[in-house]
Amino acid sequence: MRFIIPLTLATFGALSSVAQAEVPKVVTDIPAVQSLVAQVMGDLGEPTVLLGQNADAHHYQLKPSQAGALQDAGLVVWIGPRLTPWLERALDGLGAQDRALSLLSAPGTHVRHFSAADAHDHSADMDDEEDHDAHASDESDHDDHASEGAQSDVDPHAWLDPDNAKIWVGLIAQDLSKLDPENAKIYESNAKAAQARITTMDDRLKAQFAPVQDKPFLVYHAAYGYLADHYGLHIAGALSPSDAATPGAAHLVSLRNEANTDKIYCAFPEAQHDPKMVDILVDGTPVKLGGALDPSGSSLTYGPGLYEALMQKSADTITACLSSQD
Ligand SMILES: [Zn+2]
Repeated sequence: MRFIIPLTLATFGALSSVAQAEVPKVVTDIPAVQSLVAQVMGDLGEPTVLLGQNADAHHYQLKPSQAGALQDAGLVVWIGPRLTPWLERALDGLGAQDRALSLLSAPGTHVRHFSAADAHDHSADMDDEEDHDAHASDESDHDDHASEGAQSDVDPHAWLDPDNAKIWVGLIAQDLSKLDPENAKIYESNAKAAQARITTMDDRLKAQFAPVQDKPFLVYHAAYGYLADHYGLHIAGALSPSDAATPGAAHLVSLRNEANTDKIYCAFPEAQHDPKMVDILVDGTPVKLGGALDPSGSSLTYGPGLYEALMQKSADTITACLSSQD
């Protein structure tokens, strides 16, 4: 962990015995979250990210050195236990939950719940073909993240909605400012700049996705509900459930039937998983094999620019396949 001491403090080093809040050490779960925190911290510091390069967000083994970083962290920023149960266990073990900001349960976060349209449990509703159109249902339902009863159905992949990213950089700035009031103005202005960048990106992606909104596609795992809701995309099904577990044979058979009978344009594998299962699924069907998606960003270059790169690359990969089918 490296951080730059502001020039004014270095200059008056003789006075540093006066109790001085330091820039907090921040640990994050996935590269998309690290990117948002890095944008808020700017030149003041560099947040650590736990998820290793090319690793799967749901299934990860913490290294001993990472447990040490968690122990030393002044602030842990993570999505929450639904995404990374391995991090929940570590936080509980260290008694560090009170230093952790769970973005999924933070006030203002737009939370969606899995529905039949996500096909995370498609085998249960394969007889109901109309379920695919259910994704535009009751909006108020989605915002009700306080309803405790439905917590197990909460879709944790909430960073793929840029409105959440914008809310979160504000919350991250607030938490950092509480720990480090000296730099509150810097955190706040960095967060505002990040929000402006995300808005510009979002407008660009809305225009890019508009022509493919009515074209159904399949994905490797049920991670793209927020992206689909936000940009009006039509996901016809997922091979694997929301935690990227190995898909069952019966589910694959039902998806394969769907690939043959429905008008599905593309199927997208995932960077952290062998593409052969998607390949087998679409082989001999009219469905075209798209490029690999990477919801957590672990195949990309880590750092402040990752969030936008992740969103842009997702848009490029999805639209490249869907628009090549005309
Ligand atoms: Zn996932």
